[in-house]
Amino acid sequence: MTGTALPTINPATGCVDAPVLRERGQREVFCGLTGIVWLHRKMQDAFFLVVGSRTCAHLIQSAAGVMIFAEPRFATAILGDRDLAGMADCNEELDRVVRELLARRPDITTLFLVGSCPSEVIKLDLGRAAERLGGEYAGRVRILNYSGSGIETTFTQGEDACLKALVPVLPEAPATQESVLVCGTLADVVEDQFGRLFAELGIPVQFFPPRRATQLPSIGPGTKLLLAQPFLNETMRALQSRGATLLSAPYPLGVEGTTAWLRAAAEAFGIAPERFASAIAAPAQRARTAVARYRPTLEGKRLFFFPQGFDQAGDLAELFARPLQRIARLKV
Ligand code: SF4
Repeated sequence: MTGTALPTINPATGCVDAPVLRERGQREVFCGLTGIVWLHRKMQDAFFLVVGSRTCAHLIQSAAGVMIFAEPRFATAILGDRDLAGMADCNEELDRVVRELLARRPDITTLFLVGSCPSEVIKLDLGRAAERLGGEYAGRVRILNYSGSGIETTFTQGEDACLKALVPVLPEAPATQESVLVCGTLADVVEDQFGRLFAELGIPVQFFPPRRATQLPSIGPGTKLLLAQPFLNETMRALQSRGATLLSAPYPLGVEGTTAWLRAAAEAFGIAPERFASAIAAPAQRARTAVARYRPTLEGKRLFFFPQGFDQAGDLAELFARPLQRIARLKV
């Protein structure tokens, strides 16, 4: 790993103009399977079936911290030695596992077959498997697939791949229907808060992914896309190809980031500045008060972002630098 000399930071102006330090080199990252940890909590009627090895099962089990007795909404169809040696028909095995799973769990409405390193290495075509099984269970369960393998994806790319897999099945919105589509998994409490703010502004809003995989948002030329996460490029492109327009905005991080993010939607819908200021006044003040508690601890400190997948650390550092500088007077 190579290092760079620390820049001098002016105490009066902070780090606004200081370059973000980047360290490059060998690094280890989680694979895209980890996205299942938050995706399975969000879409409560979906199920994630990882087609992988015991390593994949251990990763998901430990990362999600869910007891196996809890019947979580994810599992691993283990590819054993016979499968890996090409001695078994993996498609037959997969069909059997899916049959048993759907018989045991009638609450599943959407099943994701999630590819892994082992399924990729033995060239198990999960796209065709999803098509075959989708036909068999048509009308009862929607079956989709994406890859979370460590060969193809890292960490957050799993969510991007999962949401992209959903885009083709989003219903078509009438050309005259205008709405904001917030894209990226949000905690339910955050989604509720944003929902209330959009309602107060009089802006119709939909969230993607939704809480129930059967209640997918509709999309069309009147859909204004607002990204809530910085790692959804593939999904964004797929949504744009369905007619959505991307609103240029920062991400909803901190008071200033969130204000600018909401303002982008307000301006797109022609909301008067006074109405906007009045709608966000109380929550913005609450956020400022919450940050104030930590200011004495964080003030003057440096933040170091560890690489966490496809060179995000530098992007995140740049993303945070300005709002943090203004809000908490941090030296980033
Ligand atoms: S998908 Fe690959 S990197 Fe991820 S847990 Fe399975 S074997 Fe490991």
